[in-house]
Amino acid sequence: MIETLGVVGAGTMGNGIAQVAARAGCRVILRDVKEEFLERGMTAIRKSLQRDVDKDRLKEEEKHSIINRIRTVTEFDALAEADLIVEAVTEDLSVKQEVFRTLDQLTRSDAILASNTSSISITKLGAVTERPDKVIGMHFMNPVPVMKLVEVIRGLQTSDETYERVRELTEKLGKTALECNDSPGFVSNRVLMPMINEAIFTLYEGVATRESIDGIMKLGMNHPMGPLALADFIGLDVCLAILNVLHEGFGDPKYRPCPLLARYVDAGWLGQKSGRGFYEYQLQEPKRTGLRTSNL
Ligand code: NAD
Repeated sequence: MIETLGVVGAGTMGNGIAQVAARAGCRVILRDVKEEFLERGMTAIRKSLQRDVDKDRLKEEEKHSIINRIRTVTEFDALAEADLIVEAVTEDLSVKQEVFRTLDQLTRSDAILASNTSSISITKLGAVTERPDKVIGMHFMNPVPVMKLVEVIRGLQTSDETYERVRELTEKLGKTALECNDSPGFVSNRVLMPMINEAIFTLYEGVATRESIDGIMKLGMNHPMGPLALADFIGLDVCLAILNVLHEGFGDPKYRPCPLLARYVDAGWLGQKSGRGFYEYQLQEPKRTGLRTSNL
C-alpha cells in the first residue's frame, strides 16, 4: 500500500501530481532544487484547490488538510521515507539519470521509482539503479488534477508486482491506468507530437495563420484545443525535447523538429509558462526563462 509519495520537481507536472496525491489521502514530500520553485509550485496548488472551493467541489477545511499533507523540501534525503517516488524534472536523460542514481542510493530498497517522463526510455532510467524491476513510467497528463489518464510504461525489467502496485495507486488517485511498453514517446507522444510538429511546419511555411491552423483543427477535427495552443500549454521546451527523443530514438527524419520550434525555445519563448509562445499570455506567476537542467 502506497501511503507516502515523494515527488521530485515542483513544476507544471510535479505540483499537479503532489496535489492529486495529497487529495487522495497520501502524505507527500515535494522536492525541488530551490525554495522559490517550491513556493511557485505550492502557489499553483493553492490556486487550483481554491477554484474547487469556490465552485463548492471542496470544503475549506479539506483544502487546508490537503495542503498540510504536502511537505516541501530542497534536500534529497527527505525522500528516504517514501513508498514510491515520482520524478517530474526536466525532460533530459542525463538529468533524470542523475536523479534516479541518487534516489536509488537514499530510498528504501522496496520503494518504487517512477518517472513522469513524456518520452525518455524507462529501461535506460532503470539501468542506472540496482532495482530496475522497481522502475516504471507513470506518465500523468497535463493538467494533472483534470486529466484522467496515466500512461503506465513498463521498462524491459519492470516486474509485474511493480506494475500492479502502480496500477492500484493510479486508481486510488482517481485515474485510469493504461499500459504500454517502453518505446520512444510511448503511445501518447508518438502520436501527438508529430501532429503538433506538422502544425508548426504549416505556420513556418506560411500555409496559414496560427488562428486558422488552430481553428481548422478545433472545428474540423473536434479537438478541444488547436495544436499550437496545445504546444504552448505543454511548454515548447518540453515539445522540442520529446521530438528530439523521437528523432534520435527512431532515426527517422519524419520526427525532425521544425526549426521554428527550436528558434522559439532558443529565444526563451516557452509558451504559457514564459508569457510567450505561438500566442502571448498574461503571466500569473514569475516568468520562467528556459530549460532548467540543474540537478543535485
Ligand atoms: P517544468 O519545467 O515545469 O518543471 C520541472 C521542475 O523540475 C522545475 O521546477 C525544476 O526546478 C525541477 N528540477 C530540475 N532538476 C531537479 C532536481 N534534480 N531535483 C528536483 N527538481 C528538479 O517541467 P514540467 O512540464 O513539469 O515537466 C516535467 C516532466 O514531466 C518532464 O519529464 C516532462 O516531459 C513531463 N511531462 C510534461 C507534460 C507537460 O504538459 N508539461 C505532460 C506530461 C509529462
